[in-house]
Amino acid sequence: MSRRIAITLDDPHTEGTPLLDAEARNGRILGVLSRYRVRAALFVCGRRVDSAAGHQLLSAWSARGHILGNHSYSHLSLHSSETEPETFERDIMRADSLLEGFQGYRRIFRYPFLQEGNTVTRRDRVRGFLKARGFSIGHVTVDTSDWYLDMRLRRRLTGTSSVDLGPYRQAFVSHVTRNAEYYDKLAIRAVGRSPVHTLLLHHTLASALFMSALLRTLQRSGWNLVDPEEAFGDPLAQQTPDVCPAGESLVWSIARSVEGIGPQLRYPAEDAMYERPELDRMGL
Ligand SMILES: [Zn+2]
Repeated sequence: MSRRIAITLDDPHTEGTPLLDAEARNGRILGVLSRYRVRAALFVCGRRVDSAAGHQLLSAWSARGHILGNHSYSHLSLHSSETEPETFERDIMRADSLLEGFQGYRRIFRYPFLQEGNTVTRRDRVRGFLKARGFSIGHVTVDTSDWYLDMRLRRRLTGTSSVDLGPYRQAFVSHVTRNAEYYDKLAIRAVGRSPVHTLLLHHTLASALFMSALLRTLQRSGWNLVDPEEAFGDPLAQQTPDVCPAGESLVWSIARSVEGIGPQLRYPAEDAMYERPELDRMGL
């Protein structure tokens, strides 16, 4: 049976980036999704789009039938002891007020940094809060460090536009496809099957430039692009792994408590530090 994956993008914003301004960048991303005839879920951090331009961006996603999810207002980390759970919860509802008027908004919450709490008390309190207000979790199965590659690309492009994008495209596509393979194999080892995956990407310049190449490569490698509803409806989504610190990819989090697998897993699951040496070596 072919493998299935849904596209999700986090943190849309309206700041300009090298090569593409905010409108062009957003237009490119929406254009790729429409060419591939696939619906995506956009997880919105309120403060990045709390403006007229931000409103326009969200309306464009809404008008094209995509799903809008809640990624909090201020992008606080529930792993930081400075973040009080009450503050974190208020922040979720602040984003909810901003988003509730948009068609396509669902009460699906994605934790900032995929961090679900550094203590069991904090973890369970916020899980309970979300459940009581009818939120489901916008979980990720295929975690990536796409944002890090984007950061390096933008840094390279500062002050010049004569950069060969080819190697960046290649690095982006191979990082994401490699992670898709990794998390799929990990799921098969941990739960005995390939779930409908959710891929984590960000609403960045790199996504605008390279997402088309990425989706083509995924399809050629036997991945079917599916609707996020299908992925969020996978039975895997019902699981709330009893691990602490909680979070990361749901597959990773489940695998962590499986004997013979858990102790081999690195923590954090994904981070810039894992990608840095190879990107340095490639001169990117
Ligand atoms: Zn985020």
